[in-house]
Amino acid sequence: MPLCRLCGNAGKFVKAHIIPEAFFSVLREGGSAPQLVTGTPNQFPKRSPIGVYDKGILCDTCEPKFDRFDHYGVETLHVRFDELFQPISHQSKVIAYQAAGIDQKLLLQFLLATMWRASVSTHQFYRRINLGPLEEVARRAILEPDKPVPDVFNAVMSRWVIEESHLQSAVGGVMDPFRERWDGVNGYRFYFGHVVAYIKADRQDFVEPLQGLTLLKKPIVTMVTRSFDRSSDFAAMVHTVKLSHSNLTRARATRMTPESRKSSESETP
Ligand SMILES: [Zn+2]
Repeated sequence: MPLCRLCGNAGKFVKAHIIPEAFFSVLREGGSAPQLVTGTPNQFPKRSPIGVYDKGILCDTCEPKFDRFDHYGVETLHVRFDELFQPISHQSKVIAYQAAGIDQKLLLQFLLATMWRASVSTHQFYRRINLGPLEEVARRAILEPDKPVPDVFNAVMSRWVIEESHLQSAVGGVMDPFRERWDGVNGYRFYFGHVVAYIKADRQDFVEPLQGLTLLKKPIVTMVTRSFDRSSDFAAMVHTVKLSHSNLTRARATRMTPESRKSSESETP
């Protein structure tokens, strides 16, 4: 019998969102379902009308424990972003966004909760997220939200600046998160709409210049901007969207086989 990954009990399992649904609608085009973009060849986009969820990780008692984190993450990084963050310009270009009065611990808890859910999920979209021994450290931090967030976890964020014309043409996709290293510090990169979070899972601290942008270090939260159209992320996303589109077209043309229909489902059993 499957056990809830948070409490360890056999309970009634519920659909648990991993990256909250709101972030999938940020990039939604023309009312159609957002696509999950993956760089893996021969995979066409997985239509995911209600965002990405996993119904094999959390029981109905534990799932609501994420509400507070998710609500704050969605409000801060998406719904109220323009109200909370001031653009900082240099030579008439926006180079950063800054905000005071952010509950930085709660925001970090949202990022950690998302990373933990991605780590325990067997969903293909999160296949590159595996916290290993730190998964248990993260689980305990979620169960004891009043304690400080363990030092092994912290985050730096950036924000894409997207030119309108590119926004129209480029994307209906959400990039899957992946593991990377920044000057020897291990972590994972997640995409939350236009915000990119670099979440470390490592005993070492970030090194400069990332150190100065880390949550909980300063009263003001700073996100540097990335030029979306020049970043390699943009190139990767356009490439994978094109690839996905051509795979989708091919799959439609040849009619879906039972095998491909199975793989297009957006939930794990
Ligand atoms: Zn539970």
